[in-house]
Amino acid sequence: MAVVREPTRQMSRQAFLRAAAGAAGALAAGTVLGPGRAAAAPNTTGWDGLSTAINGHLILPDNGQFGAAKQVFNTNYNGSTPAAVVTPTSVADVQKAMAFAAAHNLKVAPRSGGHSYIGASTANGAMVFDLRQLPGGVNFDAASGQVTVTPATSLYAIHEALAAAGRGIPTGTCPSVGAAGHALGGGLGAQSRHAGLLCDQLTSASVVLPGGQAVTASANSNPDLFWALRGGGGGNFGVTTSLTFATFATHDVDVVVHNYPQQAFAQVLVGWQNWLRTADRNSWALADSTTDAMGQHCRIMATCPAGSGASVGNAITSAVGVQPSGTENHTFNYMDLVRYLAVGNLNPAPLGYVGGSDVFTTMTPATAQGIAAAVNAFPRNAGRMLAIMHAMDGALATVAPTATAFPWRRQASLVQWYVETGDPQAATTWLNTAHQAVQQYSVGGYVNYIEANQPASRYFGPNLSKLSAVRQKFDPGRIMFSGLNF
Ligand SMILES: Cc1cc2nc3c(=O)[nH]c(=O)nc-3n(C[C@H](O)[C@H](O)[C@H](O)COP(=O)(O)OP(=O)(O)OC[C@H]3O[C@@H](n4cnc5c(N)ncnc54)[C@H](O)[C@@H]3O)c2cc1C
Repeated sequence: MAVVREPTRQMSRQAFLRAAAGAAGALAAGTVLGPGRAAAAPNTTGWDGLSTAINGHLILPDNGQFGAAKQVFNTNYNGSTPAAVVTPTSVADVQKAMAFAAAHNLKVAPRSGGHSYIGASTANGAMVFDLRQLPGGVNFDAASGQVTVTPATSLYAIHEALAAAGRGIPTGTCPSVGAAGHALGGGLGAQSRHAGLLCDQLTSASVVLPGGQAVTASANSNPDLFWALRGGGGGNFGVTTSLTFATFATHDVDVVVHNYPQQAFAQVLVGWQNWLRTADRNSWALADSTTDAMGQHCRIMATCPAGSGASVGNAITSAVGVQPSGTENHTFNYMDLVRYLAVGNLNPAPLGYVGGSDVFTTMTPATAQGIAAAVNAFPRNAGRMLAIMHAMDGALATVAPTATAFPWRRQASLVQWYVETGDPQAATTWLNTAHQAVQQYSVGGYVNYIEANQPASRYFGPNLSKLSAVRQKFDPGRIMFSGLNF
């Protein structure tokens, strides 16, 4: 720690002015301050005191490590200028840094896995809390079947630790996504039809509130905060320092992939939804379309209990009504499934991407044609594009829409629009075209696929007013930064 800490205590006038300008910039960009809160700038004395008070590092813009410290997974945001990056090594460090931020009117942007679509965990003018040094890792309690993790633990690390006990949690497919950002926004993936969202398995969380108070959120302790943490989005109420999830027993799985010609995509989507309607909850499938330098192709990828792959494949073929142009069949143990869904890349390199989503109540032929039209409108030179359809039924849909902050419990599916590109302009223009193509069928978006400049109502629908009230209670000064104003 001393290696980086000593030089960072000395803040040059130039660095101070940069930090102050960043904070002022954030305020100018529409930051909402709480009642009676003045827009004060940070001061050098304050930084020095914080650096001395914590055991972790405080890295200011004039430190040689600042450039690396502020980097996130989406390289399109590496040009950001936070006011500082703090790397707490204990909950006490988080509390001190939170108290400092509140006292100095600095926004707090927690960083766990760093995969925010809009670089929210490296925001301009904010104090980034890089939580990767918090000790604890993954602790599975065999007696309760629950697992407790630190916020920046990667999804793959959790799967790997649980595999030894034959247990799993429901998550998305990207292995390097962080537990906190994922769970706080929902957490949607291949287990959601039998186990719901990752946030549905959250039983308790430790949270440091703006101002520095450490609290527990669970069904019995701060239940309103617990409600908000389950789908209310990262960066909104405080810094989550640990999360406890219920787990399920894992089993071997068959995987069935049907490839189709791109012209059939709309029909594939309708068939995919029709199959889901009849499928056992232990089965799951996504449908997607990829556009890259090689051209366009679409497919359905299903998972189901080992031994049932052949019948699931036949059922999908008859629901779609199009003969697949190619098929793949596998039987995996659970960890091999996790690795397969990660496309074998367990530690993906950071890259530039632009993404978003639309949520659909039903998948009518018109909705499917709207999605296919959006895909066909993608300009080939704008990067590699995927339109990925997530199923929103099964266990996820057994939860009442108002039971957690995640509102989309009565909808059929959502599409993730995702473009890998280091030149976001063309991709963003197309993303707007895609939204327009499905506008009449879309009821909102998924906060884990957050887009810049969107109203919070798009992500929280009818749950927004309760969410705003919870935010007002726990973060009245709007210290926390999430990229959403509410
Ligand atoms: C390649 C890729 C694939 C993905 N696949 C899926 C998928 O299959 N299913 C799915 O549901 N999602 C998926 N996602 C989206 C992912 O769930 C979100 O981007 C998620 O928010 C990332 O969390 P993080 O901790 O890695 O990111 P971060 O950038 O660290 O955090 C995301 C947000 O949460 C806040 N935050 C982080 N940590 C904390 C904390 N401890 N306390 C409070 N706030 C915090 C941040 O400030 C930021 O606003 C994917 C993302 C990528 C890049």
